[in-house]
Amino acid sequence: MIATGIQIAYLSSAALFVLALRALGQPTTARRGMQMAAFGMLVAVCATLVDQRIVSYEWLIVGLVAGGLIGYPLGMWVPMTAMPQRIAFSHAFGALAATLVGVGEYLHGFHEETLSHGQTVALGFEVFFGALTVTGSLMAFGKLQELLPGAPITFRGQNVFNLALFAAGVVCLVWLVVSPYDTAFFIAILAIGLAVGVLMVLPIGGADMPVVVSLLNSYAGLAAVATGFALDNNILIVVGALDGASGFILSMAMSKAMNRSFANVLFGAFGAETGGADAAQDGVAGEMMPIDADDAALRLAFARRVIIVPGYGLAVAQAQHQVRELADLLEKRDVDVRFAIHPVAGRMPGHMNVLLAEAGISYDKLFDMEDINERFSDADVALVIGANDVVNPAARTNRSSPIYGMPILNVQDAKSVIVLKRGRGKGFSGVENELFVSPKTSMLFGDAKQSINKLCAEVKQA
Ligand code: NAP
Repeated sequence: MIATGIQIAYLSSAALFVLALRALGQPTTARRGMQMAAFGMLVAVCATLVDQRIVSYEWLIVGLVAGGLIGYPLGMWVPMTAMPQRIAFSHAFGALAATLVGVGEYLHGFHEETLSHGQTVALGFEVFFGALTVTGSLMAFGKLQELLPGAPITFRGQNVFNLALFAAGVVCLVWLVVSPYDTAFFIAILAIGLAVGVLMVLPIGGADMPVVVSLLNSYAGLAAVATGFALDNNILIVVGALDGASGFILSMAMSKAMNRSFANVLFGAFGAETGGADAAQDGVAGEMMPIDADDAALRLAFARRVIIVPGYGLAVAQAQHQVRELADLLEKRDVDVRFAIHPVAGRMPGHMNVLLAEAGISYDKLFDMEDINERFSDADVALVIGANDVVNPAARTNRSSPIYGMPILNVQDAKSVIVLKRGRGKGFSGVENELFVSPKTSMLFGDAKQSINKLCAEVKQA
């Protein structure tokens, strides 16, 4: 009776997760999607807690309290700009849980002499993918948080070495299935998994880390599927499969938006020669033309069509509320204001949508790149706020640029361009941007929040 109830609860939470994923695909329904997912998880956790295989609740309560104490501050106080590293950190914990369950189940089966070949496949897989996700995610966290060098670390024959190590892990896994009580192979799988996680992330530059985090998400999903098989738990299998597939699709989508092949992200050591302060000048010549806030405000106030292009700097400056005020002021003057959203603007997918939604900017003003690119030529002003790589014409024109081929927003087609940034800082890919020295472009230097405050004050008086 209880067992049937648990399966029904699992089925309902699986349905909630699927519906939640669907709802998360649209900004208008995303909030509801998150609520459905959270509720689905609550149902799954409650159902698991009444499982009769649980022999004591003390350690579960300790885990619940410790998890709550760590998770609440992480959720509440980590800024949006640090979200990729926070997610990497959470993956490390999730994967550690899967790995420890795998080790625990193996030891249990070993002592009880109940290890079967089928169960060892699941346990070996779980421990291998779990272990590489733990160290891989910690490495990604370290690189994103700048605790480790962000530049790719490479050595001769690295890809071959990594693939050989991975293959050795698979061989140990096969051997363990043949001979489940050979603990040396179980330990080898664990050790190789931990090493592969470190070595896999070493040659990947900080700029590609969000793609890696999403791929590790997918590995954590695979480890969860294996845990589900090992524990005979259906919801873990379903959720792990959803997690594995969605993480993989997201990694592919992000690579595509950066016009990089998946293999190039994983094995290409992007940024090894180009990133950092010594990045090539890319042949950009010319002077940037500064503009005062009052002149910029006049240009905006008397424009008919303005397209605002937000980028990572908007998130750093936390200027989303000021942007909304500026857009409202312009609209009161009958200016047509739209926002152009590049798929990889900021540091995580949907970063700009989330920021602008937080400020209450209506979704119908946000346009995806494909939908707005044609309209730049009609715009009197393109107002670029803390964006750089996503508006860099080198992606179209300079074959030697590391971002060559990345789709960009057609800002240079607008009649005039105003760029808000603090100074001459480069974008995440570390390349110069000729848009900033174009005769059409005026630079309003300063922190984006302060600059927009000044623009608002001036537009009010215009
Ligand atoms: P970006 O190329 O990183 O440029 C951000 C610009 O913002 C910088 O040039 C910086 O110049 C300026 N800035 C920083 N703080 C500021 C502040 N307080 N006020 C005003 N300006 C400020 O940003 P992006 O154009 O959004 O491009 C995103 C990059 O991240 C792309 O290369 C993309 O491939 C990469 N990426 C994104 C994702 C994703 O999922 N979104 C994932 C992986 C990689 P100053 O220092 O001069 O101010």
